[in-house]
Parts: sequence; structure tokens; C-alpha cells
Amino acid sequence: MAAKSTTTIRQVLSYQPHQAAWFAATQTLFNRVCAFYFEVIQTHERVLDLSNKEALTALEKLTHATQNNPAPVMALQEVAQDIPAMFRRAAINAALGSARSFFSHLSTWRKRKEKALAKGKTFTERPPVPPRTWDKSVPFYVGQWRERTASSILLKIWTGTCWSWLKVRITGRELPTATELGSPSLIRRGKRWWLHTPIEKRFARPATIEQQVTTNPQTTICAVDLNLDDHLAVCTIQTVEGTILATRFIGHGREISGFRKKQLGRIARNRKQTGIIAENEQDNVDFWNKIKHGDEHIAHLISNRIVQFAQQHEATILVFEHLGNLKPTKGKYSKRGNEKRAYWMKGRIFAYAKYKAWNEQIITSRVNPRNTSRECARCHALVARYQEGQPAEGYTQGAPLVLCQRCGMQGHADRNASLVIGQRLITRYQQPSQGKPQAPLRAERVSKGTGVEVCQEAKSKEEPSSLQARHADRNEHGTAQDVSLGMEKHASDIPCQLRLPGES
Ligand SMILES: [Zn+2]
Repeated sequence: MAAKSTTTIRQVLSYQPHQAAWFAATQTLFNRVCAFYFEVIQTHERVLDLSNKEALTALEKLTHATQNNPAPVMALQEVAQDIPAMFRRAAINAALGSARSFFSHLSTWRKRKEKALAKGKTFTERPPVPPRTWDKSVPFYVGQWRERTASSILLKIWTGTCWSWLKVRITGRELPTATELGSPSLIRRGKRWWLHTPIEKRFARPATIEQQVTTNPQTTICAVDLNLDDHLAVCTIQTVEGTILATRFIGHGREISGFRKKQLGRIARNRKQTGIIAENEQDNVDFWNKIKHGDEHIAHLISNRIVQFAQQHEATILVFEHLGNLKPTKGKYSKRGNEKRAYWMKGRIFAYAKYKAWNEQIITSRVNPRNTSRECARCHALVARYQEGQPAEGYTQGAPLVLCQRCGMQGHADRNASLVIGQRLITRYQQPSQGKPQAPLRAERVSKGTGVEVCQEAKSKEEPSSLQARHADRNEHGTAQDVSLGMEKHASDIPCQLRLPGES
């Protein structure tokens, strides 16, 4: 079975100011044609029963004059003249998309209304309205662009008075080869014009994790432990057999966390002075934007490096631990806000890494986070966690070193946790007879002091966390109360493989 991934290449265009006016004119014309076709569809609703291809033909027949069709019902010519065929088709498809969405909303609204009226209830919900203004970007179908190179492209542009081929210089990423190029679109972002080109990659669907883990002992797994303090991500590469191949420490968490804390402290002080939640004040908006853009950037950077590292070692599976719920801790506003943002960041890194990995045919999964930091990756006994220069005993949350009294394993705490995360995934798919003995399921709740309450999400391994991330996004400004980040709580679907010594 084939699988595909789509990404968009965004490139900046160089042009003269008068050419920017032409781009704007082309977009205005495009939207006028879109609006016209939306009207045509509204008066001929039945075309929506057709497939897109059939609808396109029907709409052209209704609007486009030819020798065989000299007097169309609603002539496009009366609205705009000399519209190139491919420009018209792009507009028809855009109008069809909007119309399908609008009429499907309208139809659900009608059904709800009927149902309510049938029950004798009053129905006050307003009907959906068709778009009042149109602001679509112009896609350039084949024929509307040519001579594309790494540094330039010819675009057929409406100058306001005529159609003209315009050579535009392109900067930014080069287009990768061996992919399917989609139609480029002219996109206005603020005052600048960009060229966005979707590229589609098709590949054989990778074997499932279960297949890979159970049939090939050489299957290579990249496990990631995300941290909020020192290293943002610690990645380890191991085979299903258990051979450890590589480790990488990524990021400077402390710097990032320090930057955030400083900004949050300033906002808190502002808030105190004004005595109101100052989220919307321009001053604070600037701070928030700074933080948000910084975090976005970091999440992309870290996720890129994770996927690159996995690729370098030909890993076919990427594994993280579940995030659990953010458990509010007491403390200063800036501290709480900082923790919340760091949590949001972990979700972002996971979501980005997941889609970037998929583009490289790497499957992503998550495992139960319970005690990943407390377990020895070699013998699975409880480890001692401690600071450098201190005795190797007890468990100091966040300390960098671990020592296993039972087998003598000694090393970096986050690296050990990363290895345990990888092992958990392998164990999940191994037959009980082949693997370690499985402990009975226990209630999933981490003891105090770890700061996380453990839960699994629905559809744990396939659900991208972008929704949560968006949800978190809305709450990130840290209103007075702490928010749970919209994760569903329900019983664990991941067996806990190990019962640690000393636990009942
Ligand atoms: Zn050990």
C-alpha cells in the first residue's frame, strides 16, 4: 500500500514595487472570478452532486462561450474578459471547495432546525452565511507558469490591463528532486509576496511497529527523552536486540528556560502594577510574541535534529514517552507559567518530530512514562540519582547522574531514561515468553515529587498532538487559574512491563 506525505516549500520572491501591484491585481481578479463562480453554483446547486471533475465541466458549460456553446447561461465574459483557461479552472476549483463547505454546513443547520421544530422546540441558531469577501491566494496551474529554475520562475500575471509573463527571482530553499511538484501559489504575507509550492512524496507504507519489532532483530529504534532543564532532548539509538549504537544530547534547556522566566517575571510585574490581567495590553503582547516565536523556533530546531539523528542511524521507529498531565505546582506566577510553557513545548517538539519523521518514513510512537527515569536500562532495578561530587544514593529529581547498585551501571540520567523508553516500546511488542516477565497492571499514578500525573491519551500512538498543542496555545498566556491541557484521561492501554523492587 502506498503512503504519501505533503510538505510546502516556501520561497521569498524578489520584485519591483510596481510588480507587487500586479500581484495584488492578479489576486483581486482571481477572487472576483471565484465570487462569480460561487454565485453560479448557488443558482445551480445541483452541480454539487457531481464529482469535482464533472462539476468543472458543467460550470464551464454554464459560463464559458465557445463555438458550440455561443450563449452560456451566465457568461463569465460579462464579469471579466480574457480569462486564461487555467486561471478560470483554478478559480472554479476554489469556488467549488468553498461552496461544498458552505452547503454542507447549511444542510446540517437545516437538519438541526427540522429536528428542533419537530420536537416543538424553538430554534434560534443562525444559518451559516456564504462568504461575503474573498481573499484566496492564486494557484498557478500548469500553463500559468513556466521555466522554473532554482532561482527564478515565469508567472502569467494580470497587470490590471493585460496578461503578461513576468520573470520573478526566487530566494530560499531549492526544490528537492524526485518529488511531485504541485501548483505553486502566490501568497501575500503582510507586505511581502511568497511562492508556496506543495510537494508530494509517495512511498511504500512502512511496516507497522509490531511487524518491524517482531520480525527483524536489527530494526533500529531512536528513543527520545525530552527534558525541561539541561538538555532539551536526549536521543539514543538501539536495535531490537538491545545493542546500543549511539547517543546525542540536543539543546540548551537552561538558557531557554532562563529567557522565558525573565520575560514572565516582567509580565507578572506589569500585572501587579496595573492590577488587571494585562494579557491584551500591547506591552505584554510584545513579550508574549517574543516568547512564542522563540518557542516555535526552538521546537522546530529540536525536532529537526531529532529526526536527522534518527535518519543518520537508519532508525525506522521514533519513540517518546507520553506527556501525562501537567500537574500545577505552587509558586510564583513566572515559575508556573514557565512550567506550563515548557510542557507545551514538549508537546510541540513531539508533534513536529512526528510529522517530520513520517516524511522520512519513520513511524513515531509513545510509551508509558512511568518511572522511566528511575529504572536501570541494563538490569531494570531502581537507580540512585545524584549530583556530581555527591554520594551515589537516594533519588534527587533532575540530578544528572545515575548509578545502579545491582549491576553497577553508571551514567547520565537522561541517557538512561532514553534507553528505558526505547526498551519499553520493544517489550510492548515482544511475546511474553520471549521478553521479560510481565508484571500485572497497576494503577498508573506516579508518586509525589515527579510533578506528573500519568495518563494515556485516546488512540495513544497515532493521534497527533497538534490539537492539544493548539489548545495549549490558547491557554499559554497563563490566566490566573491553571489549566489542564485538554488531554483525555482514561485507563492505561499500555501495560506496565516492570514491577520495580520494593513495590507491591
Ligand atoms: Zn542495573
